[in-house]
Amino acid sequence: MENNPQSPPNPNGGRPKRGGQRGGGNNQNNPRPQNGGQRRGGGRGNGNGVTPLSVPGATMSRGAAVRAQKRSQADAQKIANQYQAANPQQVAQAERRANFIDDSPRLKVISLGGQDGGGSKNTMLVEYMNDALIIDCGNDLGVDLPGINYGIADMAYLETVKHKLRGYVITHGHLDHIGGLPHIVPKYPAPVYGSRFTIGMVEKIFENFGLPMPDGFQLNTIVMNEETHERLKVGPFFVELVRITHSIPGSTCVVVDTPVGRIINTGDFRLDPNPLDHERSDTDRLIELGNEGVLLLMSDSTTSDRPGRTPSESTIEPTFVDLFGRAPGRVFVALFSSNINRIQMLVNAASQHGRKIAMDGRSMMSTLEVAVKLGMIRIPKGTFVPIANVPNMKDEEVVVISTGAQGEPSSALQRMASGDHKYIKLKQQDTVILSATPIPESGNDKLIGAMVDNLMKNNVHVFRHDHREVDGCGPLHVSGHASMDEFGDMIEMTKPKFFIPVYGAYRSKHYHIEKAVEVGVPRKNCLNTENGQVVAFTPDKMEIIGEVPHGTILVDQTGAIVNSIVVKDRVLLAEEGLVAVVLTVDKKNGNLLTSPDIISRGFIYMRDNEDLMNGLRAELRRAVQQRFKRVDLDRFKAELKDHITHYLFEQTQRSPIVIPVVNVIGGKGEVKTTHGPANRPEKSLDEIASEQQERFQRMREKLLGQDARVD
Ligand SMILES: [Zn+2]
Repeated sequence: MENNPQSPPNPNGGRPKRGGQRGGGNNQNNPRPQNGGQRRGGGRGNGNGVTPLSVPGATMSRGAAVRAQKRSQADAQKIANQYQAANPQQVAQAERRANFIDDSPRLKVISLGGQDGGGSKNTMLVEYMNDALIIDCGNDLGVDLPGINYGIADMAYLETVKHKLRGYVITHGHLDHIGGLPHIVPKYPAPVYGSRFTIGMVEKIFENFGLPMPDGFQLNTIVMNEETHERLKVGPFFVELVRITHSIPGSTCVVVDTPVGRIINTGDFRLDPNPLDHERSDTDRLIELGNEGVLLLMSDSTTSDRPGRTPSESTIEPTFVDLFGRAPGRVFVALFSSNINRIQMLVNAASQHGRKIAMDGRSMMSTLEVAVKLGMIRIPKGTFVPIANVPNMKDEEVVVISTGAQGEPSSALQRMASGDHKYIKLKQQDTVILSATPIPESGNDKLIGAMVDNLMKNNVHVFRHDHREVDGCGPLHVSGHASMDEFGDMIEMTKPKFFIPVYGAYRSKHYHIEKAVEVGVPRKNCLNTENGQVVAFTPDKMEIIGEVPHGTILVDQTGAIVNSIVVKDRVLLAEEGLVAVVLTVDKKNGNLLTSPDIISRGFIYMRDNEDLMNGLRAELRRAVQQRFKRVDLDRFKAELKDHITHYLFEQTQRSPIVIPVVNVIGGKGEVKTTHGPANRPEKSLDEIASEQQERFQRMREKLLGQDARVD
């Protein structure tokens, strides 16, 4: 443990001192001191021997290597932190101005998700004294982290008030409004209320959920009739659903009459004057509710940057009829999976032209199943054929409906475009229609562009909404969300005293507030709130009274929760790669029994870097010789890890994750293996790599079966 007199001069002596800062919370994986600098306590025996090994002839300080490693770690942490779990302690010591486990006669409305842009993991808690409701409980499919399928709202706060929970009320069946339910309802059981179609989608999502439900758990769903303005008493609340148009059947506004006043959550909406299913928004009822008095309106803000009105969904039906008639051969249409009205249009256009329909895309089939079961789509007998039959049918009798309108890498349409589809080989005379536009700010326009390139290489005719003038066709897509004038209408109909825009980026909500002010809501009665803020109401006052824990829980493709430290490691692996070294040391004399084994993944290709590998082997031999007998095993591994990190940084300017494995062979041939990080399962790196590959594939397939967000 003492300083090693033989060790070469330590270059740390002259290194710049800037690196003194501790990595804050970033070093959870690495609790030991990193840089020989300030060790606490100054224990005498080993006080200055922390980094006795150094790279001979090093021109760069060890501090630089350590800082680079910290930087990589911090970067990885930053990426992982975009989606952080709630931190109750932090909030507790922050300026929490009230105890929220209080039962004061105020109405409290808290968004646990959905107020941080993108309209994701929409989850809202309504709380009054001893009772609470959750409106929507969605997931966020836009999380871009390795191995992560989606995020859900962190329910740390619900945990503290779970005894108050009386039910979940759902506005509509899109995943960003129901995708959190299979995680959260089993933990906090209460009935789930919604329209017939919404409940159909909720039951489907539980049915398809990958993980088993806890013993004894039974999903309790309650279908509410939005036609009859049925009002259900849930605790001290009266709940009512009001029909509204969006891009999935059974969409509703949620009305909750509370002892303090009436609140309305619009859910996602547009005011389509002429929807295909003739299920217009129930504006009469909204006006009635407004006349009776509304305390608070929380209104969808997704597309508040669009002036005017969103055109009716029915405006695009003639385009389908036209294109189906003009197509010389087969027709392929890609669209969002849950848009049943649009599928109905395609069914109508197909039967008008004597074509049959084949469908490809799991999420689409799943939604269609619910719609068929509930009689919400009319399909003439014999219209649908299996996709496997398509190659044997006459070209002019075929329509294929699929997912992939966003160019998702292994969606059905993309596989067709790249020639990887099991049944479909595209050919000249085929027609491909993309009935969608890129989801704003998703980056999907690039994916779509690449897919269209591939389609065109197959010589097919491509029709796209945003190129319709060039492509020579009518409109092929309309948004499911309102434009500015409709937002204004909603406020004018419901005449709320207070207004909180929801489901959108801060700027979208900002524009929405401007609209509210324009149509008569006093500016002081509007709030642009964020997730976690507690908004309290009395009949004539709205104020933010504090903040509760909130955040994102990350979920992988199996449905399991993933710790953010794991995600950080994955980001680091992806950025920097991994180097493992395996040493087999004779316990008695401290000699290496075999040449050090070095395994590199995602760092460098070893065969192209033999000098570096030989250098590293020499370093490892030197390390064993100088240190193995002098320090205990844990200390030796720690030093080894530092030393390798330093060496590799010197040579390559990169900081891969380093895992030292030391096998110590004792007197009677028993082997003791110790790894850098404790308790890793004993798998070979090849096994780990191939498992990761498999998981990645599965995740990818699953991801691509879902519509991330729906416009
Ligand atoms: Zn929606």
